[in-house]
Amino acid sequence: MKAAVFKKRDEMAVIDVPDPVAGVGEVVLKVHNCGICGSDLHAVQYGIGMPPDTVMGHEFCGEIHSLGTDVNGYRIGDRVTSLPYIACGVCTWCMRDDAMHCAKLRSLGLGQLPGAYAEFVACSSASLLKLPANVSSRAGALVEPLSVGLHGVNHSSIEPGMGVVVMGAGPIGLSTLIWAKAKGASAVVVSELAPGRTELAMRLGASAVVNPTKEDPAEAVRAITGRPPEVVFECIGVKSTLGAAIGMVARHGQVVVIGVCMESDSIYPLSCVMKEVQINFALAYTRGEFQETIDALSNGTIDATPMITDVINVEEVPAMFVELKRPGTRAKVMVEFPH
Ligand SMILES: [Zn+2]
Ligand SMILES: [Zn+2]
Repeated sequence: MKAAVFKKRDEMAVIDVPDPVAGVGEVVLKVHNCGICGSDLHAVQYGIGMPPDTVMGHEFCGEIHSLGTDVNGYRIGDRVTSLPYIACGVCTWCMRDDAMHCAKLRSLGLGQLPGAYAEFVACSSASLLKLPANVSSRAGALVEPLSVGLHGVNHSSIEPGMGVVVMGAGPIGLSTLIWAKAKGASAVVVSELAPGRTELAMRLGASAVVNPTKEDPAEAVRAITGRPPEVVFECIGVKSTLGAAIGMVARHGQVVVIGVCMESDSIYPLSCVMKEVQINFALAYTRGEFQETIDALSNGTIDATPMITDVINVEEVPAMFVELKRPGTRAKVMVEFPH
C-alpha cells in the first residue's frame, strides 16, 4: 500500500509499504481521512523518536476492512475513529480512562506503531469508537484534535457567562474556542498574531480576534463582560506565552496550558501569588472525551468542519509539510483516501 512516511529530519516521502495485518484484538481500517497535526510537523522538523520509514498520521477515521481474532462488537464495514494508541487496558490509569499515562502505551503515527497517512492502518479494537451515519468521515478525523480542546476545557472551571481568552488560533486554539463556546462562555476572545487566521476564528464563534502586539486581549474581554478573563487557555506553546497568560487572567482566575513549549521558560511567581492564580496543564484526552466529541458532532452542538481548509491526497503530503512551515490561512489540512 501507499503511505506517507518520515525519512529523515525535514524530509517526508511517499513509498510502498506492506499492508498491515490485524493481530489478536486488532482490526485493520481502510483509512478514509487523516488530518495533519502540528505535532507531526514538529516531529519531522526535529526528527525526534522516529526511525526512517515511519508511517505517520494519528488523527484518522475509516471503515473496518478486516478483523483479527478476539474482536467483539465490530463488523467489517463499520465506520469508526480510533484513539491513536494501543494501551494495556488493565492498569490503574487505563481503568480510570486515563490511558495516556499507561506505562505500556504505544502510540500510532509517531514512531512506535504505524499511523494513518496510509491506505490501511491496524488499530486495537479497544481503541475504536463508532461514528454515527450523520458524522462525515472528514469530521470523524477531527475528533482527535477536537478532543484535545475539550480536554483543556474540561480541565478548567469554566461556567456559563464567563469571559475567556484563547491564545493561538491554530487547530488546537480553534478546538478550544469551539468547546469554550459550547460550554457557555459569553465572551471568547482569541489572541493571534497571524492575520490570516482571524476570519476562521470569527466564523467558529470568537467574540473578537485581537493581535496581542496591538491590543490587550484581556481588555477585549472586559469590554464584553465588564471583567478580566476568568480563564486563559494557552494554546501556542512557545517561550513567554505562559507568563503572558498569567499577566492577563483575573484575580483567582485560571490558566490552562494546552500548548507544548519544548524549552525552559520562566515566570514570576510573585505575579501568580498576588493574583492567587491557578495553573493547570492538560495532556491529550480520554476515551470519554472522544465519545463526547462524537456525540456533539452528531447532535449539532458543535460544527467543526470549517476548520478544514484543505483536502489533499496522500501523494501531496510531503509537499504540504513544507508548505505548512508558513501556514498562512490554513488551519486543518485533511488527507483523503478514495472511499
Ligand atoms: Zn494531533
Ligand atoms: Zn494501561
